[in-house]
Amino acid sequence: ELSQRMAERSVDVIKYLMKEGQMMKPGDIIDADLAELIATEFGHTPRRVSESDVEEGIFNVADDDADMVSRPPVVTIMGHVDHGKTSLLDAIRHTRVTSGEAGGITQHIGAYQVEQDGQKITFIDTPGHAAFTAMRARGAESTDIAILVVAADDSVMPQTIESINHAKAAGVPMIVAINKMDKPDADAQKVRTELLQHEVFVESMGGEVLDVEVSATKGTNLDRLLEAIVLQSELLELKANPDRTAEGTVVEAQLDRGRGSVATVLVQKGTLKTGDIIVLGDEWGRVRALVDDAGKQVKEAGPSTPVEVLGLQGTPQAGDRFAVVENESRAREISDYRQRAAREKAVARQAGSRGSLEQMMTQMQDAALQEFPLLIKGDVQGSIEAIAGALDKLGTDEVRANVIHSGAGGITESDVSLAEASNAAIIGFNVRANKQARDAAERAGIEIRYYNVIYDLVDDVKSAMSGLLSPER
Ligand code: GDP
Repeated sequence: ELSQRMAERSVDVIKYLMKEGQMMKPGDIIDADLAELIATEFGHTPRRVSESDVEEGIFNVADDDADMVSRPPVVTIMGHVDHGKTSLLDAIRHTRVTSGEAGGITQHIGAYQVEQDGQKITFIDTPGHAAFTAMRARGAESTDIAILVVAADDSVMPQTIESINHAKAAGVPMIVAINKMDKPDADAQKVRTELLQHEVFVESMGGEVLDVEVSATKGTNLDRLLEAIVLQSELLELKANPDRTAEGTVVEAQLDRGRGSVATVLVQKGTLKTGDIIVLGDEWGRVRALVDDAGKQVKEAGPSTPVEVLGLQGTPQAGDRFAVVENESRAREISDYRQRAAREKAVARQAGSRGSLEQMMTQMQDAALQEFPLLIKGDVQGSIEAIAGALDKLGTDEVRANVIHSGAGGITESDVSLAEASNAAIIGFNVRANKQARDAAERAGIEIRYYNVIYDLVDDVKSAMSGLLSPER
């Protein structure tokens, strides 16, 4: 690639390297310093292009306070399997779809909007924390409020706790929906009490978390849930400037047989219009058409609006950020650069891993970080508590271990994505990671360490915290 860009023959570059004592073949990766040396040697004047040169000004274009107007909240539903996340999303959609009510035809595009007292609310249509955290791991901060669904006949379960930790790690406020209240054995009070143990304090227990008793199947109290969302979002004072080029996040994307690459995006700033040139992750496109959640073509979409985008050159990934750029050549430049950067990153990953304890120490020293994020999975709750207690005692004024999530059971893909989003290392005590989790960890460069003696575990974390890590075991 370097010889091509210099318009030289690759054999000449390889010969030169050989003379310098480096044996290489086409396709080998060289670092920037060596590339600069070679380019100079061949009579070129290299200019180092940094990420900021290419990425400058695409995202986070500053907005004037005066231009900010309030925008609808974006809500994600989380909770334990079978507690009614999908039922709740469906119930809310069917009673309240803003447009298309007459026809009754609603599209699943990955997100939808409803109206409550003239206020719009946007729901992300993929329930569960897996999607939420996968998006966060890709840098997308798209959720404003998390609805924690807890079935009143089952109360707090492992994935309820996971969801709580995911929402807390993201700093997203929660509203508790106590579901299945129509069931004879429903016990809302038990749910509230159990939530206390996980530091979720609902209003009636003296806390600030709103809670609503609902039934998704009977459609009971859905109004009250929506009112709670409106109330919570007023407290958050969510704002965006609609009068600027659009920015946002990809919620869903697929290659559609008839329509080509289609992405559902959530506009977060500005207004997206047909004809706009957009970059989505390392793909780009010219917006040919915009389709809303009722299947209607629209000309534009403002802040917090989910909309399907047609006219893309390739299929981006859920969680990718998107932004409008000034012209097609800029779009190509950015997507080329990002595709190259992604390839280089994949290569670099093989060399060193991001989530290793050593790396984390260096990062902590660089950033003067005070916390040492860890995710701990163990065989039984008792041993996890013992570990958490021992780690707690290790803390000093400068540094302390921060257990962002712990639980009994094997290490899963969801653990890995939470670790990735929070830059945490994963520790398994008497448990292993399943295949999907191992693959995901490898892709993300997250280190998983296994232990079966608490002392060894604590000792390693202690060494890592004092910058003296024992060799990998
Ligand atoms: P998810 O896994 O959290 O998405 O849960 P689902 O929405 O798939 O619901 C799991 C099961 O619980 C389904 O059989 C639903 O019909 C049932 N269910 C959901 N909400 C309610 C409710 O409010 N009352 C009753 N009785 N059953 C419900």
